[in-house]
Amino acid sequence: MSTIQTVGIIGAGTMGNGIAQACAVRGIQVVMVDINEAAVQRGLATVAGSLDRLIKKDKITVADKDAALALITPSTDYAALTGAQLVIEAATENEALKVKILQQLDALLAPEVIVATNTSSISITKLAAATQRADRFIGMHFFNPVPMMALVEIIRGLQTSDATHDAVKALSERLGKSPITVKNAPGFVVNRILVPMINEAFFVLAEGLATPEDIDAGMKLGCNQPIGPLALADMIGLDVCLAVMEVYVNEFADSKYRPAPLLKEMVAAGWLGRKSGRGVYRY
Ligand code: NAD
Repeated sequence: MSTIQTVGIIGAGTMGNGIAQACAVRGIQVVMVDINEAAVQRGLATVAGSLDRLIKKDKITVADKDAALALITPSTDYAALTGAQLVIEAATENEALKVKILQQLDALLAPEVIVATNTSSISITKLAAATQRADRFIGMHFFNPVPMMALVEIIRGLQTSDATHDAVKALSERLGKSPITVKNAPGFVVNRILVPMINEAFFVLAEGLATPEDIDAGMKLGCNQPIGPLALADMIGLDVCLAVMEVYVNEFADSKYRPAPLLKEMVAAGWLGRKSGRGVYRY
């Protein structure tokens, strides 16, 4: 496989524009596609704003910003993706939508083009099976905010070839990321460990073992975590944490993943975290 020069990105939202920025600042051409002009322009404006903050912090120059922006071609037309050697799908998290997008890409892209998905929760093996290029399909799970976060989980579906894995790993390293390689399974690695830890914090809270503040302080000071699990749950959204636990308990049919009753109760009350003004803490 020749070196990847041009990356196509589907979706100019939170993750799509972050991935576009990460590629462009490393000199890689990007074609960023979304469903309408407003969405692609919002994505471009987000990249420009993020690069402006890096200029203020003396991390890059104005010339670096201009060079990066010049490498990003916004489009609302999938046909603009035909020159890409890799297309990363970062559209809305909806399985039917992703399958439809992957089938559109199959019809459009040359057979050797690799297609990756940034899905957080959908099976890579299952999505691969919906394409005509299952061996050239892979998960590339970036973390938010993409320009700041060093990790990319590279998720191999059952069908993913070694050549596909190696090409995506090499690209992740060119982006300055530290990739880890993971076999497909619910939650991959990081969320598989993180969300049950958050769930356990709700059991501990419900048992009255300590106050929320002390639970969070304990995990910050004792495990060097930058934020405690309950404060993190409020950031992620308690409903999102609950939905993830429900996937695990169903997929693994293992009661060790049962959602904490207090987490369910708070979601039922509409206490979803920061986004609703109240979760474990009040905002
Ligand atoms: P988002 O809502 O910010 O952006 C999604 C974008 O996809 C929107 O701009 C939407 O218009 C666009 N879109 C929808 N249908 C499309 C189509 N047919 N063609 C092209 N574009 C289309 O969502 P996001 O947070 O960027 O999430 C994108 C993906 O990344 C999801 O699969 C999500 O699970 C995953 N992810 C998100 C995070 C996160 O923290 N936000 C972290 C890791 C992975």
